[in-house]
Parts: sequence; C-alpha cells; structure tokens
Amino acid sequence: MLKNHLDQSVKSDLSLVSESRFSVGIDVGGTKIAGLLLDGNNQIVTRATLPVPKSSTESLLDGLARVALELIDAAPSEHRERCSVGFAIAGWLNATSDFVRFSPHLPLTGVFVKHELEYRVGRPVVIANDADAAGWAEFRLGAALDYDDAVCLTLGTGLGSAVIANGTLIRGAIGMAGELGHVCIDPTGPECACGGIGCLEIFASGTGAERAAWKAGLMMTGRELVAAAELGDRDACAVLDDVARPLAQALTMVVGTLDPGVVVIGGGFGTASPYFLDSLRRQYAALASRPESRPLVPVEVATWGPEAGAVGAALLAAHHKS
Ligand SMILES: [Zn+2]
Repeated sequence: MLKNHLDQSVKSDLSLVSESRFSVGIDVGGTKIAGLLLDGNNQIVTRATLPVPKSSTESLLDGLARVALELIDAAPSEHRERCSVGFAIAGWLNATSDFVRFSPHLPLTGVFVKHELEYRVGRPVVIANDADAAGWAEFRLGAALDYDDAVCLTLGTGLGSAVIANGTLIRGAIGMAGELGHVCIDPTGPECACGGIGCLEIFASGTGAERAAWKAGLMMTGRELVAAAELGDRDACAVLDDVARPLAQALTMVVGTLDPGVVVIGGGFGTASPYFLDSLRRQYAALASRPESRPLVPVEVATWGPEAGAVGAALLAAHHKS
C-alpha cells in the first residue's frame, strides 16, 4: 500500500517528533563503530568513528558509549538533554530489543546491551538489529519512502533483512522476524554460522558470491567478480546469475507471504552490481505469478549507502516514545 494511505495522525506524529529532536545513530559493524548526529530535519550534522575494540565486552561497550557521548556533545547545547541515541548492532536481539541473543562477530552475545549502554550514556537508548535499522532508513527517508509495506534486504558479507508492515517494523514473537538470510533453502547445503544448514545467506551474499566464483574456477574476490560482470565477462555473469537465483526464489516466498509494496536491495554487495540486480529482477519476474493475477513487486536499489544502519538507528531513536 502506498504511504499516502497511512493514517494522518501517524504521519503528523512522526513529523512532529522529527522536527524537535537531534538524534545520534551508531552502527556497530565487525570492524568499525560508525556514528552520526542528525538534526531535527534529518540532516547529518557530524560523524564519529572508532575501530571496534574487541578485546572484551567491557571495552566494546565503553567504546560505543564514548562515540555516543562525543556526538551528543556536538549537538547545540539547548538540544543535548533531549538528544536521543540509537544503536544498530550486527546480531540477533530479543523481542524487547534489550538483549543480544547471538552476535557472531562482536563480543556481545548474552549481554543486556540496552541496560549496559544506558548506564554508560546516562539516558535511554534504542537498540536495533543493523538490517532492521538500515531498512527503517529506507522506509523513512529512502527507496521505500512512498510505501507503507516494504521488505528491505541488506546484502553484504551476509544477508540481513527488515520487514515493515503497515508502517511498523515487525519484530516477531522473539525478536527475529524477517531473518530471511537464515531460512534453509538447501537441506544438503553447508552449515551456516548460525548453526543452520543451507541458509540463504550462504548463497546470496558477498561471501556466497566469492564461494560461487571459486566453485566455478574463477579465483576472484567479490569486488573483482562484480567488476568482471560489468565488463561483460560471461563466466562472471553466470556466477552472479547463480547467486541471484536462490534470492529470486526467496523473493517469491516473501512477496507471497507478506505482500510488500516494494523490495529494496541494499548493502555493499547488493548495490555494487547493476548486472546482479537486473538478473535478480529478471529471475524473480520469471518465477512470479502472471502479472494479470498478481502484479510484480518493484525491486529497487537502496538509497542509503554504508550509513543506512546509523541513520536508521538515529531515526528509530528519535521516534521512540520512552
Ligand atoms: Zn544461518
């Protein structure tokens, strides 16, 4: 459904809050903490980064708090007290988004991260899965802006996803709704970092593309593979077709289940190759129902680049009613 159909009170409520608050958003990736400060008009005022301290949970939490406090201090003095703070974390959260169930690349598994960060930052904070935050940035200010229902996929080294239905980010019963990257698409496939077998992200991700290239005898990095495909290298194109195929199959399931108005593809790998996106659209269209029975859902490229997670975290925090 187009967002024009949103209830007017919801839209006015969102704009009212966004115009009155500065907000900090911090994305915690595998190697870098990247933070930014948004003003009340959702413009990026300044940024701050820090290498991820991985020596201990304490040092990582301290580093996150340090970046947050630095960015709060960058806000005009009259806005600092009400400045909201959101963190986008590469990991699975619980339903109330205060506890990290599992984070394969950060020492945060089993940590009540919301409590720990609120203690250090001295104010309420909002915690979100990084792909959820990136999807929210696309929904509020990006490629899904005109829609009320959207699925946003982030294809980097892995595959994250966000589901937005009727203007709400869907978290699910235990906080793990929309984890499309970890549904089994090949019961005979390799084991995934999550413990599952044949998960979609093993095949449809930057890492999956490199694996597929090597399997095809192309000793290339993901970046080299994408570059070769853009130059028309047939073998490279065939590999990207193979990577897009399971994702296209998954899209038919997502569209059939959730009926989104748009599917947004983001992430470093997802946005790097026009050939890959065309292949995905082509294969999805070939597998989908006939247009006369069910119109094809547009597959759009994400507007936000690597800052999507931080922007989304800031927006989620700004609109959070605490
Ligand atoms: Zn998995």
